Amino acid sequence: MPELPEVETTRRGIAPHVQGRVIERVLLRRGDLRWPIPRAIRTALPGQQVESVERRAKYLLLHTRAGSALMHLGMSGSLRVLDADMPPRAHDHYDLVLDSGKALRFNDPRRFGCLLWQKPGEVHELLRGLGPEPLSQDFDGARLWERSRGRSAPVKTFLMDQSIVVGVGNIYASEALFAAGIHPKRAAGSVSRARYSKLADEVRRILLHAITRGGTTLRDFIAPDGAPGYFEQELFVYGRAGEPCKACGTPIRSGVIGQRATYWCARCQR
Ligand SMILES: [Zn+2]
Repeated sequence: MPELPEVETTRRGIAPHVQGRVIERVLLRRGDLRWPIPRAIRTALPGQQVESVERRAKYLLLHTRAGSALMHLGMSGSLRVLDADMPPRAHDHYDLVLDSGKALRFNDPRRFGCLLWQKPGEVHELLRGLGPEPLSQDFDGARLWERSRGRSAPVKTFLMDQSIVVGVGNIYASEALFAAGIHPKRAAGSVSRARYSKLADEVRRILLHAITRGGTTLRDFIAPDGAPGYFEQELFVYGRAGEPCKACGTPIRSGVIGQRATYWCARCQR
């Protein structure tokens, strides 16, 4: 599933091809993805110039004066920039045809992605109530510490709560907790301010590292060199149950926390 680094990598990859371009045509090969594609995508978007390409949490927004196309990659979606006359493959669900002769084409076998519309000056309901971006100034250890007081939920569940901070997915939560030496089952309210400060730093470092490497699971994206990310080989705990901890040699443990597979070192994380 694309996580924040893949979505940010996608944003950085498509922005130079899309920003400043006029969307000449919208070609929908089906009327719905996860949700029905609203009428405004067909009626209001064509003819509009893309002013900017923004990422908010795991959503991408193409901002135009008439409103914004709101896109999500879902579980298996990818966006590619290619020649508009390239024949579609299976699961190519929509094209935004640009005045450059290129098209932004969305492929999604499982169809959990979406293409929605945000009116000018409004915030789409899917984006309301979201916490700060983890790479922004608004996210730090002090905020985590304040918001966690009195909470008995596991710190990993807390860290993945989108109202606390957006886009810290399962892999990155596991890795950041390992790097900060915090046991994922520890009650969020019992983690000290100093340890939250370390955790916030590790979240930022790990996400930025993944972005520079192109993300963990990205395969199909128009990277300049076409190479997938290499981050998977650098994981310390995620997916390594039974293998020795890279720091102390203790076998990595696994379990389910908040219905998500979780991995930790019982010696390095307290
Ligand atoms: Zn260890």
